[in-house]
Amino acid sequence: MNSDLVQLTRAADYAARQHLAQRRKGERAEPYINHLTEVAALLAEATDGGDVVLVMGGLLHDTLEDTDSTYEDLAQRFGPEVAALVAEVTDDKSLKKEDRKRLQVEKAAGKSPRARMLKIADKTSNLRSLIESPPKGWTEERLRDYVVWAEQVVRSCRGLNARLEAVFDAAHETASKRFG
Ligand code: ZN
Repeated sequence: MNSDLVQLTRAADYAARQHLAQRRKGERAEPYINHLTEVAALLAEATDGGDVVLVMGGLLHDTLEDTDSTYEDLAQRFGPEVAALVAEVTDDKSLKKEDRKRLQVEKAAGKSPRARMLKIADKTSNLRSLIESPPKGWTEERLRDYVVWAEQVVRSCRGLNARLEAVFDAAHETASKRFG
């Protein structure tokens, strides 16, 4: 039995259920699972499929922030490594949005290698959807600010996987041209 494959598909199934009613902020309002599978695919490709914990983390990375999942729930279903990775990339929702954004920049460099790669994949997916389907009502300035902020977070996450960084850089370049 390929238990990695079983674990991975269980994570995809669980993420799809947990985020069932959630949509992306963009005008297309894509199902949220599209973001999660994109992040997971970016991570799988960048690591040649060699790190199942990382790819599961990609699928589950927003469950603690956006759904009723708990750390214990994730640990029980998917093991402590996956739960800890998801917790590491989860913002403290009791803080104001500006503080959360500032802390992402400040704390990124101190995160584990997996968490830093996950952040890069997350920001890549977010920049791509900003380009393809910008959120309704966002001003040029807000779009530009997001692009600048995403690059600041990623700057502190670099040095682990050149392929992943190149994919982010391509999305960042397109977004900068569009909104810069
Ligand atoms: Zn995300």
